Amino acid sequence: MSKSYISAKIRKLVRDRAQNCCEYCLIPESLTLVPHQVDHVITEKHGGKTTEENLALSCSLCNQAKSSDIASMETETGDVIRLYHPRKDQWRENFQIEESNGVIYPLTTIGRVTIQLLKINRSACLPYRQMLAQAKILIQK
Ligand SMILES: [Zn+2]
Repeated sequence: MSKSYISAKIRKLVRDRAQNCCEYCLIPESLTLVPHQVDHVITEKHGGKTTEENLALSCSLCNQAKSSDIASMETETGDVIRLYHPRKDQWRENFQIEESNGVIYPLTTIGRVTIQLLKINRSACLPYRQMLAQAKILIQK
């Protein structure tokens, strides 16, 4: 969720860097009805800046679910865990995709709370992610 101005140059950089895919759930923009959005990973209300290092491309559903959150509570322990940060964390170290069904599984507590909060395994995504994973054309950084 962004209120500040983001230049066309930076928007293009963010889109190109993400290869037009959501940096959380991996869904390509071409498969969505609503354009992907440039997201402040750390929102401005938490001190996040409008810089390349704090921006990520997000589908509208991940962005809506994430809102201004930067952390979530792990249900088992009650610990507050920060969310996955696409600029500081490696996707492959935090998540794993199951090709047979398109489900993304967590490899870390950061992955677990991020999947839960962003509802990354929403049912509408699964057939697309399954197809893309099986075709080996999902971008997992
Ligand atoms: Zn997404």
